[in-house]
Amino acid sequence: MTVPAPAGDIDSSDHLFACFRRADLAFTHGEGAWLTGNDGVRYLDFATGIAVTGLGHSHPIILDELNRQGGKLWHVSNAFRIPEQEALARLLCQRTFADRVFFNNSGAEAIETAIKTARRYQFVSGQPERYRILTFEGAFHGRTLATIAAGGREKYLEGFGPPSPGFDVIPFGDFDAFEAACGHETAAVLLEPIQGESGIRKLSAQDIARIRDLCDRIGALLIFDEVQTGVGRTGHLFAYQDSGIAPDILAAAKGLGNGFPVAACLASEKTAAGMTPGTHGSTFGGNPLAMAIAHKVIEIIADEAFLEDVRRRSARLFAGLEKLAAAYGDVFTEVRGEGFLLGLRCAVPVELVVTAARANGLLSVIAGDNVLRLLPPLVLSEAEIDEGLARLQKVGRSLTRTDRNTSVEGNGHV
Ligand SMILES: *Cc1c(COP(=O)(O)O)cnc(C)c1O
Repeated sequence: MTVPAPAGDIDSSDHLFACFRRADLAFTHGEGAWLTGNDGVRYLDFATGIAVTGLGHSHPIILDELNRQGGKLWHVSNAFRIPEQEALARLLCQRTFADRVFFNNSGAEAIETAIKTARRYQFVSGQPERYRILTFEGAFHGRTLATIAAGGREKYLEGFGPPSPGFDVIPFGDFDAFEAACGHETAAVLLEPIQGESGIRKLSAQDIARIRDLCDRIGALLIFDEVQTGVGRTGHLFAYQDSGIAPDILAAAKGLGNGFPVAACLASEKTAAGMTPGTHGSTFGGNPLAMAIAHKVIEIIADEAFLEDVRRRSARLFAGLEKLAAAYGDVFTEVRGEGFLLGLRCAVPVELVVTAARANGLLSVIAGDNVLRLLPPLVLSEAEIDEGLARLQKVGRSLTRTDRNTSVEGNGHV
């Protein structure tokens, strides 16, 4: 919905590209799970800038780190050694399958790095004909020219010229189509362990095991897009660590800097072998300031006790949402997801639900399949979980049809 400028006001947003459908609301400051709007209202933030501010706003340790490193050194370029980068790469490798890391600034860029790494691996292995990447319908991998081709969504491709070649988009969960598409030109399979944008759709551990198995059989690599699922969001440092099936390459971004732009592409030693000097680069990627902040974020979130607590608290939210869905079946039909990556499928248009939630002081995100995405900070307290549920209950109550007898169905028109 387009928000018209308030009457009599000069709409200063006229100078921005009109790409975003923005709510007519801005924020002045944030603390923990709360954002204060310029309307003076305190909002409970179950959006977290789309799964970004996992530690909440103004986290004291992250703020200290920003000030500490910010007073020392921000940027030098990858023409020099960057000890902060080496330290974060070491930490990420200690905690994951990976042996090598390349740092970027955004999710789409980290996916591009992942795709380039997979194709280069095949190239230096003497199989340059293997360049095709298999992806799943409903996927979201970013908005660059290559990542919109990887996602395959017509809406995002239209009008931007010929799609970047080399991507095969397979119907979600269709293994016959998947096996048929895997061939001697397949470099890698790229997938989100849980699809975020398309409505919190999860591939089962068995599905992922089958995909891993097929990749191994045909010599293709497996890439996990954990841009949204990673950095503690599902109650594990990375979602794959729950299933125990590791990828060859993994992209992380959203939660990594708690709002400071930073992303990473992780790879095994063997897989990264093609990324030799001069093959890839980034001006800002891996700068000391981003590295120092992301290092603190990972230190806090990779702690097993912290993750255990995320799983415990998020189970409380999940159970509360299931109760809501049972009580307000006219509005909410199904609870999906894991950890604090949750979806509430709606029986009424999700746009109505997100607006009603905002009117009740709760921020959330729209996803596909008419799903309301709930992405609270990982530090959400039990009291804040209950507060969020109370606000959603008000939404359920306000949107429940009280006019059953006079509804369209009641009049027999449908
Ligand atoms: C957000 C997202 C991206 C793109 O990240 P940007 O930082 O916006 O480029 C890629 N993949 C997934 C799964 C995402 O959720």
